[in-house]
Amino acid sequence: MSTPEPVEVDIAIVGAGAVGLTAALVLAQAGQSVAVVGPLHAPRDGRTVALLDGSWRLLGELGLTDALAERAAPLAVMRLVDDTGSLFRQPPVEFRASEVGLDAFGWNVENAELVEALSAKVRAHGAIRHVPGVVSDIAPDAAGVTLSGEGVPSLRARLVVGADGRQSRVRSAAGIAARDWRYPQSALTAILAHARDHRETSTEFHTRKGPFTLVPLPGRRSSLVWLLDPDEADGVAALDDAAFARRVEVQAHSLLGAMRLDGPRGRVPMGGLSVERFGAGRMVLIGEAAHVFPPIGAQGLNLGLRDVMALREAVRDASDPGAAGVVAAYDRTRAADVRLRTGAVDALNRTLLTDLLPADLLRSAGLLALSRLGPLRRLVMRQGLAGGMGR
Ligand SMILES: Cc1cc2nc3c(=O)[nH]c(=O)nc-3n(C[C@H](O)[C@H](O)[C@H](O)COP(=O)(O)OP(=O)(O)OC[C@H]3O[C@@H](n4cnc5c(N)ncnc54)[C@H](O)[C@@H]3O)c2cc1C
Repeated sequence: MSTPEPVEVDIAIVGAGAVGLTAALVLAQAGQSVAVVGPLHAPRDGRTVALLDGSWRLLGELGLTDALAERAAPLAVMRLVDDTGSLFRQPPVEFRASEVGLDAFGWNVENAELVEALSAKVRAHGAIRHVPGVVSDIAPDAAGVTLSGEGVPSLRARLVVGADGRQSRVRSAAGIAARDWRYPQSALTAILAHARDHRETSTEFHTRKGPFTLVPLPGRRSSLVWLLDPDEADGVAALDDAAFARRVEVQAHSLLGAMRLDGPRGRVPMGGLSVERFGAGRMVLIGEAAHVFPPIGAQGLNLGLRDVMALREAVRDASDPGAAGVVAAYDRTRAADVRLRTGAVDALNRTLLTDLLPADLLRSAGLLALSRLGPLRRLVMRQGLAGGMGR
């Protein structure tokens, strides 16, 4: 019996997380024939994502913001509180979206709800082929890349986009080296209901163990991201729901009043990853396949969505979306943006973890300068929004 001919598309995306699904919709809208491979499922683990202005506008172009608006809360104010007990502790710093002429810096939504909304759009899209299997073989040649695996019929594309997360197979197949590191921290995530109104304000307490952040959700609800050393995270994670909610309330200095759990909780070990290149051969990397860092400053997914926008630009008008020039152009545009943000988040996280006076002094001086100097505040807010800031 002869082997069936592979299905041919312009672009195959491996990984159907938030970034891969967005890429499928954006690239199909740009006129490419697209397949996206991977299970359509995101675990409900209390993780939310703060989608900043540029990301929200991108989802708007895809016709998704109406569906998401009732599940997302606007972030009108971002407050940073120095809770390190440092000698140089500064008063809280607040950033208001109105200072940069916006109603909100962004919108906070449960990651699983975002993936659900994107999945529904992909399913309903006549021109996107969704393959629910897992890719295990990736065979590149000069003219294209052939993919196969369990539940994946042979699929051939001129460009393969690796949106397959931290352990990316596409990255290995493309021979792209990655640097992978761990922080002595775990993130606890949860959704909580509380007695007081959050007033559309996200509050990030900078503690010695890492940031503790409460981000608004619709109603009197907020999501929690709490970075702790792994032993302490074990202890807090082992608490029952009522004791956990009380512990969070104490840590938040009762800012939002009495709290109770309002959804599942999660726990994520903290690490980072950066790549030497964003593409090679006929393959490019987007989202966590290309960059991972701790959830400080709402950078991760927002940066992944910027990868998608950059890829749309790189393939625009190209007769072959996997041509060497397209891959090189994408690599060039992502390098500076991703390195800047990976470095900044890493540096902030490390200054929080140290007891050294100079680091404290620098961080405090930075916060003080931010709170006092209007033009600097606005510059930081615009820079943050360009790629994502906020949680
Ligand atoms: C606690 C926490 C809070 C965060 N908060 C924010 C925030 O406020 N704002 C923000 O911008 N970012 C935030 N982030 C980061 C954000 O969640 C991630 O950047 C984003 O979810 C990554 O999406 P992704 O699609 O790149 O990767 P993933 O969600 O990891 O998706 C990868 C997909 O690829 C699939 N896959 C893997 N291998 C294969 C294969 N061989 N074949 C087929 N499919 C495959 C997987 O099944 C999965 O569906 C946060 C992260 C954490 C941990």
